[in-house]
Amino acid sequence: MKPLSLIVGNLGVNCYIPYCEETDQCAIIDPGDKADKILGLVQKNKLHPKYILLTHGHFDHIGAVKELKDKTGAQIGIHPGDAPMLLDPAKNLSIFTGGETVQVQADLMVEDGMILQIGNIHLKAIHTPGHTAGGLCYLGGGVLFTGDTLFAGSVGRTDLPGGSHSILIRSIQEKLMILQDDLVIYPGHGGLSTLGQERISNPFLQAGEDLDFE
Ligand SMILES: [Zn+2]
Ligand SMILES: [Zn+2]
Repeated sequence: MKPLSLIVGNLGVNCYIPYCEETDQCAIIDPGDKADKILGLVQKNKLHPKYILLTHGHFDHIGAVKELKDKTGAQIGIHPGDAPMLLDPAKNLSIFTGGETVQVQADLMVEDGMILQIGNIHLKAIHTPGHTAGGLCYLGGGVLFTGDTLFAGSVGRTDLPGGSHSILIRSIQEKLMILQDDLVIYPGHGGLSTLGQERISNPFLQAGEDLDFE
């Protein structure tokens, strides 16, 4: 499966749209901004959004959630550990951006191991705390959406509330690195990679990298 994607917002968040070719059902992952552009892409491809799935609750990933929910009726899913961030502009950090604040209610608490069905595609939620307490990755159709947990050549920052570098590295090693090498990763920022490539070359995942990176 190859999701549609577009880059939105000042921090360049990757918004992904995995979809089922047989049923035209889709999910919208991390609509950080530009609801009109995202909706345009959905409509151009004649897709029907079932879920708005969030990898975590930071403002740069959730800015267009409310408008897309209002316009499509898709259900908003987030891990319970990050659900309070959706309701609180201080917790999702949108209050500090000088732009519009974000406040929206989740519909669905996405727990570790939960399967989200999008037509004939099954996305499995994997709880990967460390960047935030309720960080989620989504696995399905030969791809892995990693949010701000794992990037090509890097990992998520851990200096914001709820962050922990040691917990993040443990999440990646124990929940993601057990998956197959040819899995294509679709990170929350930056370009694509594969798990195998990150296993070899990501400086944060090499032997001995289990403490703070100083
Ligand atoms: Zn983040
Ligand atoms: Zn981000």
